[in-house]
Amino acid sequence: MKVPFLDFVGPYEELKPELDEAWSRFMRSAWYILGREVEAFEEEYAAYCGARYCVGVGNGLEALHLILRAYGIGAGDEVIVPSNTYIATWLAVSYAGATPVPVEPDSRTFNLDPSRIEAALTPRTKALMPVHLYGQPADMDPLLELARRHGLKVIEDNAQAQGARYKGRRTGALGDAAGNSFYPGKNLGAYGDAGAVTTNDAELADRVRTLRNYGSKKKYYNECKGYNSRLDELQAALLRVKLRHLDAWNQRRAAVAARYQAALPAGLTLPWVPEWAEPVWHLYVVRHPQRDRLQQALNDRGIGTLIHYPVPPHLSGAYAGPQWPRGAFPVAEQLADTVLSLPMGPHLREEQVEQVLCATRQALEEIGVKFCGQSASCQGAPAASALAGSS
Ligand SMILES: *Cc1c(COP(=O)(O)O)cnc(C)c1O
Repeated sequence: MKVPFLDFVGPYEELKPELDEAWSRFMRSAWYILGREVEAFEEEYAAYCGARYCVGVGNGLEALHLILRAYGIGAGDEVIVPSNTYIATWLAVSYAGATPVPVEPDSRTFNLDPSRIEAALTPRTKALMPVHLYGQPADMDPLLELARRHGLKVIEDNAQAQGARYKGRRTGALGDAAGNSFYPGKNLGAYGDAGAVTTNDAELADRVRTLRNYGSKKKYYNECKGYNSRLDELQAALLRVKLRHLDAWNQRRAAVAARYQAALPAGLTLPWVPEWAEPVWHLYVVRHPQRDRLQQALNDRGIGTLIHYPVPPHLSGAYAGPQWPRGAFPVAEQLADTVLSLPMGPHLREEQVEQVLCATRQALEEIGVKFCGQSASCQGAPAASALAGSS
């Protein structure tokens, strides 16, 4: 039995009647762009996050980009971003014409380290862009305090953390504005590209609403050079269904994470959760110095894993250059070399979780980690040699 990294069929099977109903409602509506479904989703998702406003846009990258544009952040401005993130965080800043200024994360939480930010500020700094990476909220209070002192905007990259809580409050409404992604693999995933801006700032919401639709509020009257970045009616209709199940599905992820935390063998560095964080386990990321060999050994046993992310943005083709040689951001580089994401999702079955645990133990033993007094062969599971040829 193989364990896929992420199951996309399970969600559809579980919600088929509701999704099919939404689909036919959409088809019968004969209205495809900016209609009732988008409006309803915007209201429902804003309420879910505890934000006053939500504006549906084309994807998560554009959500972040439009926030920056709406705040007038552009050429000559700097925005603090994590040195370890999906490259979209940096690209949003670049698209706005501003400069991403990377700051290293706390290597235990993978999130922006507030104590390192002050040193990166200049008179050009306009905003902080914390990412709630892997579904765990960043430490927002020190960031908000620092932003207040320096007159900076705080823009959350909430692409990976729909439903997470920081000190009891939902992400997506903690700063000035948040970019949300509903890319299919995210915790609230659409059936195509989709995104949203959430905010308590009425003026910002209004500007993003105009920017997403060719800079126009009234058809054919264009106030500014806007974009075409609208959330589809169809995606909104499907997202409304999935939003109703998000909390329950996040709880299932948390149960998988709890089992991993309790039972993964020593020799791996496991995720660390500060007491004020309620993560939603978008990804379950372990670390090991021989990550590539571990990944291969797990693959040999039918366990799907991924690396988030193998190349930090400053070493990627998009940003590489003399400004940021290898070694410029050692924490991000070390994470990129050692992180491994294990199977995680609301449709991972209990026996699959046990299989991951067993295979991980065997894989670690294969690459030379010894377990004192314990055998690597798991009860009721085939031994490594029996599995090796069958993957
Ligand atoms: C997925 C993701 C994005 C971009 O979202 P898209 O909808 O793919 O454009 C931005 N930031 C982070 C951290 C992400 O994981």
